[in-house]
Amino acid sequence: MSRTATHSGPTASARTDLSTWPLLGRFLRWRHARTTAQLVLLLVAGLVLYDGFFGPALAPKNFAGVLPWVHWRGLVVLALLLVGNLFCFACPFMLPRRLAQRLLRPRRSWPRWLPGKWVALVAIVLFFWAYEAFDLWASPFLTAWVAVSYFVAAFVIDGFFRGAAFCKHVCPIGQFNFVGSLLSPSEIRVRDERVCQRCRTKDCIRGRYDGSGRLLQRGCELGLFQQRKLGNLDCTFCLDCIQACPHDNVGVLLRLPLRREMDVDRNRSGIGRLSERPDWVALTVGLTALGFLNAFGMVSPVYRLLDWLGRILHVTSEPFLVALVFASGIATLAVAVILASFVSSRAAGAPSTRWVLTRFALTLAPLGFGLWSAHYLFHFLTGALTIVPLAQSFVLDLTGRAWLGEPAWRLASLLSVTSTSDVVLLVLALGFFGSIVWTMELGRRARFGFAALLPWLILHGALFLAGVWLLGQPMEMRGTLLG
Ligand code: SF4
Ligand code: SF4
Repeated sequence: MSRTATHSGPTASARTDLSTWPLLGRFLRWRHARTTAQLVLLLVAGLVLYDGFFGPALAPKNFAGVLPWVHWRGLVVLALLLVGNLFCFACPFMLPRRLAQRLLRPRRSWPRWLPGKWVALVAIVLFFWAYEAFDLWASPFLTAWVAVSYFVAAFVIDGFFRGAAFCKHVCPIGQFNFVGSLLSPSEIRVRDERVCQRCRTKDCIRGRYDGSGRLLQRGCELGLFQQRKLGNLDCTFCLDCIQACPHDNVGVLLRLPLRREMDVDRNRSGIGRLSERPDWVALTVGLTALGFLNAFGMVSPVYRLLDWLGRILHVTSEPFLVALVFASGIATLAVAVILASFVSSRAAGAPSTRWVLTRFALTLAPLGFGLWSAHYLFHFLTGALTIVPLAQSFVLDLTGRAWLGEPAWRLASLLSVTSTSDVVLLVLALGFFGSIVWTMELGRRARFGFAALLPWLILHGALFLAGVWLLGQPMEMRGTLLG
């Protein structure tokens, strides 16, 4: 089917549409763009698996100890803050699930009794607990097993269930990226709503078929219908809708982060109203709490706390003690959110505590993601250059000759300590700013007075200060030999 361009020339929308930019646009619109990016990351995953299973046991000298925990995490948050959900776009775990869909032709729907994000939330909590309890970052062997489990889970789940069950309901990385992409400066959306109103086929959601009913191009597997899509939640940046739309009416449009996403009562395609989705609220609170716990796991006070807990409980099992700290941290934030909702609803005369909670708790997302980003950027900025000696040593071990030179283990940081501290504090402050703006906007829409907003402002302020304190602590230099 031929495509009919509805926009051409340097219009204002073309300037803010990444898919019309000279080189980038051409790549994004190329039919095999995503597969190419996925194959590149699959090669990197292969390197991680090989070195994880057969390479040195010391994490800073092994690709599996460095690439996932230093480079990949830093680049994921950097991409989310500067562009969009680029990791889901290039996700290598999609290749086994495509294979599973071809081989096993799944027909079952995802079970209704496991709706929304609940399974993913449990998976996220378990993953981060295991990360701290078993020091995954320090074990290339365990890291390789985590990668293998990911490939197997994507294969099995999407070999069994139709659609994008793994991405939508299970994948912890995907949910992290969805929440983070609230702060992204781009969004995949229609260029001209009037074109959608005239469109008869709706291929962006149905898919494109030839005369004999053979599928030529998938529509959105995540169930996001472009005409009613709002924001980035649940969007994997797969670009299928761009390929499928027969009117060339979908682009990658630049936007002001958060602005279109703040209306939590507006119906979004594939999601509904955020204020009626307790799973999204729980995911936001859970991810925020885990962001603090994950950063807390990097600073020395955590060891004193674990020692103290072990002594008073007469327990030596670190996994148990870490579970206790995690449960207490998540419960503390949940109680603080319920308390803020209660006080806020009383002060505003709102319909109920639940009414306030299901709206305002979502405003934790920018601050929570700000802390995640600050933490991951800290590791990236202090360890990015380790890739150089690592590659040198890998080649030396593999071939017995220093083709890339002798390993220069002194290389590690991209920026000085002072500049790194400034950058991470700035990122945390941006997240805090986003949470305050969102809170004020929800307050304006709900006609809440200052007194009703105060509990939320205090909560955000307290979390921000806790984040500043955490980032000010000497952190372990994971993934480098300098720690
Ligand atoms: S985005 Fe969807 S509804 Fe809009 S014109 Fe394209 S196919 Fe039709
Ligand atoms: S097809 Fe769906 S998930 Fe993929 S980019 Fe379009 S809206 Fe996002």
